[in-house]
Amino acid sequence: MLNIILLGPPGSGKGTQAELLVKKYNFFPISLGALLRKQITENTPHKALVQEYIDNGQLVPDSLSFQLVVNQLVQNQSQGKPLLFDGFPRTMDQAAFLDGLLIKHNTKISSVILLDVSHETLLQRLKDRATIQGRSDDQDDQKITTRMHIYAEQTLPIANYYQAQHKLYRVDGAQNPEQVVKAIEKIIDRWIKK
Ligand code: AMP
Repeated sequence: MLNIILLGPPGSGKGTQAELLVKKYNFFPISLGALLRKQITENTPHKALVQEYIDNGQLVPDSLSFQLVVNQLVQNQSQGKPLLFDGFPRTMDQAAFLDGLLIKHNTKISSVILLDVSHETLLQRLKDRATIQGRSDDQDDQKITTRMHIYAEQTLPIANYYQAQHKLYRVDGAQNPEQVVKAIEKIIDRWIKK
């Protein structure tokens, strides 16, 4: 089963690529950042907690993130679509949890796409996104620094974990979105033909 993880720092284009790939491959998208922001806009009981963590650029506690991911997999059970993760996992604990969860669903991760983008380009993109989307976590230099730090310390080690399993593919995320999606499609199509 084709199940993909999009890995990359804040501003690397995971969300944009997820949208493009869902259209082409009929993926069931699991975007944890979007699911968390929905807790705020839909005024769920988790709103205050989520707001506090997102506003500080910190990772939301696993107890909630895991619950949201489990719910998504249950929702997809009747559809059985291939999965596209964007923004999850972000730590080794989350990667281990996801492996166990997928085993319970008789499936596993097939490929992990790492979007490579230079620090300067990321900062520029986040600044632009702050103006266009008005995300509070993009508007403050300190919050951006925190998120970049978390990425380097906690998320990047996951790349080694998947590399050791021969599942990691690096894509130049500094290209325009259409070029990036083409590069990802090549990887996916090669995997499908295997
Ligand atoms: P994103 O939309 O992926 O940039 O995520 C926005 C924010 O949501 C992050 O800065 C975190 O506060 C929270 N978040 C997203 N993904 C995760 C995750 N895997 N674990 C914990 N918190 C997350």
